[in-house]
This record gives sequence, C-alpha cells and structure tokens, in this order.
Amino acid sequence: MRYEPVIGLEIHAELRTKTKMFCYSPNDPNETHPNINICPVCMGHPGTLPVINEEAVKKVILTGLALNGRISQFSQFDRKNYFYPDLPKGYQISQYEHPFVTGGALALEESSKKEIRIRRIHLEEDTGRLIHDASGNSLVDFNRAGVPLMELVTEPDFRTGEEVREFGEELQRILRYIGASEANMEKGEMRVEVNISIRPEGTEGFGTKVEVKNINSFKFAADAVDYEIKRQTEALERGEKIIQETRGWNEDKKMTVSQRSKEEAHDYRYFPEPDLPPITLSEEYIEKIQSELPELPRAKKARFIKEYGLQEDAAGLIARDKAFAGYFEEVVSELLEHDKETPETPKKNLIPFTTSVFTGELLRLLKDGETIKDIKFTPENFAELLIYLAEDKISNLAAKQVLGKMFQSGGDPSDIIDELGLWQVSDAGSLESIALHIIEENKNAAEDYKAGKEASLGFLVGQAMKESRGKANPKVIRDIMEKLLKRL
Ligand code: ADP
Ligand code: MG
Repeated sequence: MRYEPVIGLEIHAELRTKTKMFCYSPNDPNETHPNINICPVCMGHPGTLPVINEEAVKKVILTGLALNGRISQFSQFDRKNYFYPDLPKGYQISQYEHPFVTGGALALEESSKKEIRIRRIHLEEDTGRLIHDASGNSLVDFNRAGVPLMELVTEPDFRTGEEVREFGEELQRILRYIGASEANMEKGEMRVEVNISIRPEGTEGFGTKVEVKNINSFKFAADAVDYEIKRQTEALERGEKIIQETRGWNEDKKMTVSQRSKEEAHDYRYFPEPDLPPITLSEEYIEKIQSELPELPRAKKARFIKEYGLQEDAAGLIARDKAFAGYFEEVVSELLEHDKETPETPKKNLIPFTTSVFTGELLRLLKDGETIKDIKFTPENFAELLIYLAEDKISNLAAKQVLGKMFQSGGDPSDIIDELGLWQVSDAGSLESIALHIIEENKNAAEDYKAGKEASLGFLVGQAMKESRGKANPKVIRDIMEKLLKRL
C-alpha cells in the first residue's frame, strides 16, 4: 500500500512591541538580567487588572491581512487554566472561540505550487522562562511572562518537509517585513510545532498524529518531517499502530525522540476573560491598518524583475530582507537620477553590475550577523563609487579595494581613491609617453609583434600597466600601444 503524509503547523511568534501584552512592563527580548521587566500585573498579583496592548492587536491584524485572512469584527480573550511554574497567574490569557483572524492562505511557489490554508491566528501572552541549572535547581525568569505572543495554525495541507520549510521561511520574511516580529528561531522569537500523520494514499480520513517540538530552524523542521514520514510509514508497513505522542527533534542524532505520549485531552476550562471587554473592530479601523501594509517580499521580488530587469534568483536574494532591498533601491535610484544629468554615459546599464555587487561582494562583507543597517556608508556613497567605475575613472580591482575600505571605516569614495592613489589614468598624453617608453625598453617584443606575434601586444600592455602602477586604463593603453606599434 502507498501512504501519504499529512502535515499541519502551529507557529508561535513573539510580537515586537514596546510593552507587554497586558501591562506596561517593557518587552525587551534582549534583556539579559533576569526578572527586571516585571510588574504586579504580569506577576499575577491579586487585585491587578490587565489592559490590552493595541500595538499587539494591530500586528496580529496586519499579519492576518498579509495572509488574506478574515479579520473578526468581534473577538474576545479567554482564560486557559493550567498550573506551571512559569505561569504566575495560574492561567494564560489567550483566545479560543473568537480569534482575531480566521482563514487566509499562503501560496507555495518553489517546493510545490499550491496554497497552504491558514486556520486561525490568535493573540495570547507568553510564559516565563525556566532555567534548569547544573546543580539540579530550576530558576524562573519572568521577563518573558506576559510578552505578546501570536499563534498561527495552518490546515493540514503540507505533504513534504520542503513545503514546511518554504512556508516557514516565507512567513518569517513576512513577519519581519511588516514589523510584527523579529522572528529569530534560535532566539525562540518564532517557534514551530509540526503535526504529522500518515494515511493510505487516496483516502480522506486522518491517521493518528504525532507532534514534534523543539525545532530551532526551518531546515530542522524539514528534516524532522522527513524523518517522521519515514518512521511512521515503516511502522505502518510492519503492521504497528502509531501512538499519539509529542516528540522532540534531536539535531545531533538527526531523529525525533518520544517526549511524552498524549494524556487524554487537556481540560483547560476555557472561559471568556472576565477582566477584559470583548473587542469590536470597525471597518474603518481594519481599513486603516490595511493601508499601512507594506509591499510584501514576493511582490517586491516581482517588481524588481519587472522594473529593473533583475534575474529571478538575484531578485529573490535582494528582496529577502526589507532594509537590504531598500538600500539597493536607493542606490539604483541614485544611478537613474544621474542619467538625467549626464545622459551620455547611461548609468541604467550599471544595474546588472550593481545587482551582482549586492548579491556577491556586499552579502559576503555582511556576514557575521551584520545587517545593512550597520553599514557605514550611504547609498549615495555607493552609487558614486559605481559611477566612477562606469566612467572608467577607477578599475574593477580598485573598486573592490575601495568598497572593502568603505565597509570597514565608512567614508567618501573619492577621498579613499585620493588617499590610495587609485584614480585610473585615461588621458592620452601621459599614457602615450608611458607606452613609448615601454616600446623603447622592449624592442624585441615590439619587433615580434610587427612580425605577426599577437601575444607580444599583451606583454607590452602588461609592462605599461606595471609602469603606471596599475593606474593606467588598460583599454586606453592598449589602443595607444597598438597605434604606436603600427607606426613603427
Ligand atoms: P490539537 O487539538 O491536537 O491541537 P488541532 O486540530 O488543533 O489539534 O490541530 C493542530 C494542528 O495539527 C493543525 O495545524 C492541524 O492542521 C494539524 N493536524 C490536525 N490533525 C492532523 C493530522 N491527523 N495529521 C496531521 N496534522 C494534523
Ligand atoms: Mg492545538
């Protein structure tokens, strides 16, 4: 029998807001000192009351709109009751019956061509963090308790690990583009749980599902899915039953490991949060947020291809990060601006070159966690350098050197070129005297060339370049050299 995998995701993302979900304690994921960003509200002291953080609500709605979901005109917070040491109130404020967003979809383009339907997106609060130290003590840091947390649940529409990976990475880009979340998986700002089951191909019902947690990247998510598909298929082929359980991904062993088999359904005793009013959102309010939705990564990529003639891969690479793409566009618009001033050497032709610098040299220089925001020079500086190159005022090699220097210490390209003496010499007079000198010194090579040995020209040009200490424009000196040799 052939089997088919069925996969659905539950994704949590910590929202980027100034303060926590229901109080005025700062929401600072980078705070390293424990239990600093806390107050009586997020510590669940008796007599305190929660207040809804509107910024968080807006970010959930933005996410819903970015995924073409339905924004509920009526929504409500509910209490999810359970005990755990990282949960000071003894309940989590979440949403059950009336989430902010239902429906919506994200289309896959690379791993396969299909839509993954979104079931719902709701808003809740995060828990504190438990730290189990080496001596067997457990410590609690409540800085994270009460941080706005968004949960997105998909329909079980995935069939492969690669689909899960593409979805996760695209969602991550969207969340960053709209400013909803930093969404770094390694920092726990985005967490994914994968539900996987297997069924006989062609059937409609669902098999018993296994939930995999503890996944730190989308690559691992894809690996975990592929592993589970194989494990479950082989178990079924041996005639075994799949046990409903939670498993964890062990990256060292590249396998999932059973963590706990699912107890009977939890009873969280959900009920409407009595300390918060239900929320009604007007059409105008939703429209206003819609108008704040920026151009999304895929739309930007498509526009770069159409507007600037970029190749698909390069466009994708540049559009991946909003600030990087913005910087690229600023450089390009500088170049186009220049075309109006000096139309005789069109800078529009520089776009393919600019693109290759961005996807090559610049991305390489930006490694080690640096982002385009850390860069020490402006798009104007960058465009200026590219224009010198286009106008043959500096060589390719010199441009690379200048870019490296600008990257380290910032600064104006013309100053750096002055300082390093990298201006390319193109004026015929000074190049001619160099060429003449070289011919004088290398009479044999000149004779060889006259006798038909083409390669000698290259040698003579090379000598002239050396004499100019690399500053001669190689094209110009070649032309001059050829002319002089013909006259011999
Ligand atoms: P639970 O109540 O156990 O959390 P839900 O119905 O809320 O289950 O679904 C949670 C996630 O699991 C969703 O992403 C859903 O698409 C997915 N899912 C549900 N049933 C299955 C199944 N049989 N196989 C794979 N994924 C499933
Ligand atoms: Mg669930």
